Amino acid sequence: MELRLAGITPESVVDGPGVRFTIFAQGCKHQCSKCHNPATHSFTAGKLFKVEEIIEQIKEKSLITGVTFTGGDPFFQATRFAQLGQKIKNLDQELDIITYTGFLYEELIQDQEKLSLVKLTDVLIDGLFDEDKEDLSLNYRGSYNQRVIDVKESLRTDKVVEVKL
Ligand code: SF4
Repeated sequence: MELRLAGITPESVVDGPGVRFTIFAQGCKHQCSKCHNPATHSFTAGKLFKVEEIIEQIKEKSLITGVTFTGGDPFFQATRFAQLGQKIKNLDQELDIITYTGFLYEELIQDQEKLSLVKLTDVLIDGLFDEDKEDLSLNYRGSYNQRVIDVKESLRTDKVVEVKL
């Protein structure tokens, strides 16, 4: 199985707490005004990566504490990112997964394919980037309408549980 990616940053300190292996999905239809990453919108640009190839790269990184899925929007390739997420969770490294999306949590859990990726995510940062709500003081998100969600607690309690990173 292959993922279409805009790129990989193998050791990032800006995409969540700790040192993270960040994977940028290629493809996004959300059209947020003043999007920070318009080069990731096309669904034909970028490069195809095999899931196993990405897993081998992650295994070589002993310093990382987690993996971040961002983009683009990983939920346009939800099944493939879920497969990658499952393999990450099977590693001995005990890595957490943060996933960024322009969709809302409430939308994602209505769709079985997207829900499969939600379930493999520890922290979901959801919602469109809104330039009118931009706040440079926020950690790991661009505008204050975006939520930082504890996925396990949200699924368990059947309501959105936000956390501070
Ligand atoms: S979801 Fe992200 S990549 Fe997509 S348009 Fe919005 S800011 Fe850009």
